[in-house]
Amino acid sequence: MLAGRDRCLFKLNTAIAACERCPRLVQYIQQVAHTRRRAYLHWEYWGKPVPNFGTAEAKILVVGLAPAAHGGNRTGRLFTGDESGNWLFRALYEVGLANQPESLHRDDGMELHHTLMTAVCHCAPPANKPTREELQNCQHWMKATLRCAQEWKVAVTLGRVAFEWTLRALRETGVEHSVKPSQFAHGAEFALPHGRWMLCSYHPSQQNTFTGKLTREMLRAVFERAVQLAR
Ligand code: SF4
Repeated sequence: MLAGRDRCLFKLNTAIAACERCPRLVQYIQQVAHTRRRAYLHWEYWGKPVPNFGTAEAKILVVGLAPAAHGGNRTGRLFTGDESGNWLFRALYEVGLANQPESLHRDDGMELHHTLMTAVCHCAPPANKPTREELQNCQHWMKATLRCAQEWKVAVTLGRVAFEWTLRALRETGVEHSVKPSQFAHGAEFALPHGRWMLCSYHPSQQNTFTGKLTREMLRAVFERAVQLAR
């Protein structure tokens, strides 16, 4: 029997998975799940909004942009089953926030420690680009997540879009701050009220990792700092 924050997160995740606020995205994720990619023809795709992953007692929030069409939208878990996730989970594992370095599918035994993974858009968007209206719609879930996981101390935002929409959600849930979206930079950190912090990282997308804009060391350093601040 779940209680308190865990119950809140369970109910929230159930509601997220059933959301149909964005017709374009709902149609897209269902279509991807139906057609599938050749390499995953044996998979039964999730094909729904992808809920949060981790603990409601989290001290560290990891905020991504959106699930990948053949990653989270296939496996039903954020950052699971794609190259971005491989980078992210390895970094989390190396700093002690995950129990294993690889995230392959929903039943692979992955556990996060003191961490909750969320996204500013819970549906995989075409070309990884949600519209502003879709991001606005999904703020409802971001704000509900922030209300459930009230114990967080550090929010690590992956990429400029996640940074901008987390800033908005914070303000709209009563966390006053003067941080502006234009202040995004890899490794930047911002003090928030009540001893909280916000950290920025480039998103571990292939566009950044293949080009060397983001290295494994750079990503791990951000999470090392998050662990330090969360203590
Ligand atoms: S993007 Fe968010 S608001 Fe839009 S349908 Fe998906 S879960 Fe719902």
